[in-house]
Amino acid sequence: MKKTYKIDVDCANCANKMEEATKKTPGVRDAVVNFMALKMKVEFEDGADVNAVMQDVIRNCKVVEDDCQIFL
Ligand SMILES: [Zn+2]
Repeated sequence: MKKTYKIDVDCANCANKMEEATKKTPGVRDAVVNFMALKMKVEFEDGADVNAVMQDVIRNCKVVEDDCQIFL
């Protein structure tokens, strides 16, 4: 399953950090952050609890970039 989220982040470098943090989150198969569009595309593992996974994604992204936001 794939979902696209609107994000807020200050620069392309932080967007890359968010992408890496998201990819490392359990339940995420792949993630792509588009800084120009301020969007994040997340592909979830089969059977993943999307809402629970996204809470972990937000937490992990905040660790690498305190100032980022993901709008669920
Ligand atoms: Zn930045």
